[in-house]
Amino acid sequence: MEQHGPHMSMNPDVIIPTRISAAVAQNISALVAPAFAYGAKSQQKSGGGNHMCGTTSLDGHTLSLALKDVLKEFGRHGVRRIAVINGHYENMPFATEGIELAIQELQWSGVDNFQVIILSYWDFVTQDTIKKVFPEEFAGWDVEHGGVLETSLMLHLKPELVDMSKAPLQKPATFPPYTLFPPIPEWTPASGCLSSPANATAEKGKLLFDVTVTGISTTLKQETSWQQTWKKFL
Ligand SMILES: [Zn+2]
Repeated sequence: MEQHGPHMSMNPDVIIPTRISAAVAQNISALVAPAFAYGAKSQQKSGGGNHMCGTTSLDGHTLSLALKDVLKEFGRHGVRRIAVINGHYENMPFATEGIELAIQELQWSGVDNFQVIILSYWDFVTQDTIKKVFPEEFAGWDVEHGGVLETSLMLHLKPELVDMSKAPLQKPATFPPYTLFPPIPEWTPASGCLSSPANATAEKGKLLFDVTVTGISTTLKQETSWQQTWKKFL
């Protein structure tokens, strides 16, 4: 639950990976669990910062422990392979910690074949697609907060939550090679976006959606140990 600029709702980080997961699950015959609606604290250089109005976050260790609990519960029900599909940049280290703790505690309980794969969906956007979506310049995933990537995907998946008439025009944000706490609010562009979403389109969103769904589905299918267990799970 993080502000994504004046033109978009606060939940792209939930809606986008949920829809990607649903499409991947159809391809590999898996089930999709409910998403975590709250994530780790927004950071200034990747999400505008946790001082921004509306952004409502968990402490990192809360996310780690909540994810650990849910993974362990799935383990208790007999699930042995889980894909954690991340949609919020700041979650990664804390989600990783939750996975490691869950595996460790399940091992202590005698469950030694519980496996988890974790990924962020944007890492499956190919260079070819990056060239099509960002024909002028690609400034990097960390400044894509509220930018063309998320806005295009939302225009494709949930257009009623985007108002392009309010899309800010701005250059990609630049930051010094260090971080200050508490943050200096002026470091974050006033819009809350770290790059301009003005060039976002639903067509680019479809391109991004299709390439990530294909890439993630292929990855999960290629892992033979995973494939066997998906089948077993069904
Ligand atoms: Zn986001």
